[in-house]
Amino acid sequence: MVKCPYCKEEITSLIAVSNAIVTQHFNVINGKYANYEGDEKCFEDYEASFFCPACNEILFNGEKTAIKFMNGKKVKLWKKEN
Ligand SMILES: [Zn+2]
Repeated sequence: MVKCPYCKEEITSLIAVSNAIVTQHFNVINGKYANYEGDEKCFEDYEASFFCPACNEILFNGEKTAIKFMNGKKVKLWKKEN
């Protein structure tokens, strides 16, 4: 079990926030209803930001870092700009 470096709560999952780019088929029904269809295709080369679910503090960016953190390894935390 890992702990949040800020609030010291035990963490079993993180909140991942990302600006994923999604593509779908779009058309208009009866001249006015927007319709999105098909599988959402996500581009995977984006970097998510990871937050503590208890205190909502941003911990770091990047899935590789998140995996290390969840495995109890030391990671470099995201630093706030002063
Ligand atoms: Zn926390």
